[in-house]
Amino acid sequence: MISLDLSGKSALVMGVANARSLGWAIAEQLLAAGARVAFSYQGERLKPELEKLTAGYPGTLLQQADATSEDDLSALFSRVKEEFGGLDAVVHAVAYAPREAMEGRFIDTTPQDWNTALSVSAYSLISVCRHAEPLLREGSSVISLTYHASQKVVPKYNVMGVAKAALEAATRYLAAEMGAAGVRVNTISAGPMRTIAARSIPGFSTMYDQAAKAAPLGRNATPREVGKLGLFLLSDLASGITGQVVYVDAGSSVMAMKLE
Ligand code: NAP
Repeated sequence: MISLDLSGKSALVMGVANARSLGWAIAEQLLAAGARVAFSYQGERLKPELEKLTAGYPGTLLQQADATSEDDLSALFSRVKEEFGGLDAVVHAVAYAPREAMEGRFIDTTPQDWNTALSVSAYSLISVCRHAEPLLREGSSVISLTYHASQKVVPKYNVMGVAKAALEAATRYLAAEMGAAGVRVNTISAGPMRTIAARSIPGFSTMYDQAAKAAPLGRNATPREVGKLGLFLLSDLASGITGQVVYVDAGSSVMAMKLE
């Protein structure tokens, strides 16, 4: 029988800053379906917010981990192993590029900004999967979050567009390797959402309004809709889906233009 009852399942969600975070939108669905969830956060300043968000869910685990630190990832996955025994789901909702890299011209991207953006936003998925692999049970699923600027030019998204292209390609390579152990790897391409990370993109409000106007549904997708897609991809309902970039953007990415 196919069911969205995730009781007895364990998940790790990386990258929740507050209630608007897409990681939280997915975590809420996992928690509602009965999963036990561990959260990792980059810095101690985020812990009180996570404590508040997870207060009603006994059995959650909170652990600091910078996704670019091998030591932090080792400590995180040892603790998850100790407390959960194994994992059925991993959510990578982590990205960062220095603001300067998104304010200027793409051609002026510095090697340092390139390395930072690709390391935090794309390479970290590979290291997370490597650390998670021994804990992932047969039938488990890994998801991350991407954006359509990987495929088409979105002004000012700059090096982050390249990082998302790398994340999507990494998803396919990871899916190819991890499939033998019954592990699926997919990425959700979400339309623009008002989160802290989005605020650092110059001109985000214009991008947000234009995406809504262009979308066949005449609006933007919502974080809740990202959460529901996350739950689907992490559940047995998606047991035949791996290596994919799955869009939840109210259809805006299919439009080449919109005539007023
Ligand atoms: P968010 O709430 O700001 O979440 C991003 C999280 O990444 C924050 O918790 C941030 O922590 C964390 N992070 C950054 N660098 C990290 C590192 N080195 N180690 C561990 N954590 C780190 O923003 P969001 O929009 O939900 O972003 C989640 C994902 O969705 C990202 O991959 C983003 O690119 C993707 N996405 C967003 C949109 C959108 O429009 N919002 C659309 C498509 C895809 P700090 O707060 O400490 O920096």
